[in-house]
Amino acid sequence: MRRLADVLEQVSGTASKLQKIDHLAAYLQTLGDDDLRIACTYLTGAPFPAGDARALNVGWSALLDALREVSGASDDDLDRSYLKYGDLGSVAGELLTQKVRLPLFPQVLTLRAVQEIFSRLAASSGKGSRQGKLAAMRTVFENADPLEAKYLARIITSDMRVGLKEGLLEEAIAKAFAQPAADVRRANMLMSDIGAVAVLARQGRLGEAALRLFSPFRFMLADTIFTAAEAFDPVRGEDKGSPPPTAVLVEEKYDGVRAQVHFDGTRLAIFSRTLDEITPSFPDLHADLRALANRYILDGEIVAWRDGRAIPFTQLQQRLRRKDPTALIADIPVVLFVFDLLHLNGEDLLDHPLADRRRALDALHFGSVVRPSEATVASAPEDLDVRFRDARLHGNEGLVIKRREGHYQPGKRGRQWVKWKEELATLDVVVVAAEQGHGKRAGVLSDVTFAVRSDGELTPVGKAYSGLTDSEIASLTEWFRAHTVVDRGRVKIVEPKIVLEVAFDAVTRSPRHASGYALRFPRIKRIRDDKTPEEINTVDDVARLFAHQGSSRGGSSPKLVAPRATERGARR
Ligand code: AMP
Repeated sequence: MRRLADVLEQVSGTASKLQKIDHLAAYLQTLGDDDLRIACTYLTGAPFPAGDARALNVGWSALLDALREVSGASDDDLDRSYLKYGDLGSVAGELLTQKVRLPLFPQVLTLRAVQEIFSRLAASSGKGSRQGKLAAMRTVFENADPLEAKYLARIITSDMRVGLKEGLLEEAIAKAFAQPAADVRRANMLMSDIGAVAVLARQGRLGEAALRLFSPFRFMLADTIFTAAEAFDPVRGEDKGSPPPTAVLVEEKYDGVRAQVHFDGTRLAIFSRTLDEITPSFPDLHADLRALANRYILDGEIVAWRDGRAIPFTQLQQRLRRKDPTALIADIPVVLFVFDLLHLNGEDLLDHPLADRRRALDALHFGSVVRPSEATVASAPEDLDVRFRDARLHGNEGLVIKRREGHYQPGKRGRQWVKWKEELATLDVVVVAAEQGHGKRAGVLSDVTFAVRSDGELTPVGKAYSGLTDSEIASLTEWFRAHTVVDRGRVKIVEPKIVLEVAFDAVTRSPRHASGYALRFPRIKRIRDDKTPEEINTVDDVARLFAHQGSSRGGSSPKLVAPRATERGARR
């Protein structure tokens, strides 16, 4: 573990991509297969591979308690350190330079020893598990030196912050084992397990990587565009010099939950965007899904749907929260709109152009609640305007526009797919502080400060007071109280875990926030349970929005046009 921590320190200490790759590659070459697998997973800042369903379920409070106990630090020491760094890893590193508890049986924290502790943590759940988790965390911190503790805390909280994107690690693996980077990337897309990919790379067996039924992999994502014309821009970076497309595939942007379905003729599994299995939440889809084809993997969106229209997302959420949804099936019917087909009867289709995948998809045996997404072809921005209005009439969010020649790229947010939501852009942000409200909200933590990402750090861009229902505020208040890191009375600095989608009227320049930007009249549109803090927007996105609002509106007004009140009301 110490060597891994040293390498991470080197990686965070240089801005040079090439140097980062060199440090990583040199380290990876020295590892045996088992260590290689574990190290690669940890280097991505995660305790388990992406497609692994296990989670540590260690709350920050258990982690902070363990830190306090082992270091002997007071609450004040801890608060001071957190306010200084804003990062639990650095806090652990600082506080553990002193220890008041030493291990009874000292243990070297090898990668395998850490893996065992993580497996135990993931396996213990339910009532009484907190004590067990606390004891395991104590063992970690008693045995770790400050640098190890810094990175262990970051892995445990899945927040690495060293400027190490997975793409960089892929390049380091390619370099370490003299394999083409494209092969490493491809294998990782298919397997969603960078450690297993590294082992294949070392053995020269990357060609054997393939999709595995019932191993969910990451979804392909869409970049945001702000004008119809952008959908026809040449794809930057990926496709240099290619002419703009003559036509694109257009679908409505369904407002539901993303679903990846795997079926082998017997077993059926539906995975969510976070790669969790949600099969039992949708028993009403099973019969149609079993009839679709013999063996397949598909991608689509489950939407609450009645009489040809989407019904509000909040109703779908009610179904997801129920362990047994049977009672709600009649009241909140759902439809799965299938928009991609990734495997069919023994053949992986990811590398086929979308137009071909779509043809295969259209030939499936659809039923009444599993349907193909409606896809049309557009050859000019004006065609998109019409489709956009239709989408809004159907209660959908906007459009997703796709390149017909594009391959399916798991985990990738790029320009092959773009989303055009509405005239007013929204941002996904994470709550970093919560504050007591005023008036009837004086007893609850209703005012939240939220941040976007900037080079792995979180940087605040605004504060929102409105948009949530009373019951959402009540449950968030409970969560904030249980996950307060620093308590400053009215204001609680909280674990950066709650992702919100916020709407606003404009982006303005602001010296008040470190980001240099602020959002005008922000309001919360939705709690995004389906997104992790790693997926939120970045300061670069905010800067693009800022630049865009000037140019696309004739260059004079810095204000984006807000949707009409009626339109907004109709959406939720
Ligand atoms: P957002 O959640 O706002 O980042 O927008 C991207 C999401 O839109 C995807 O992850 C899908 O869950 C969803 N989506 C809805 N309709 C479609 C569609 N037709 N094609 C692709 N993604 C879609």
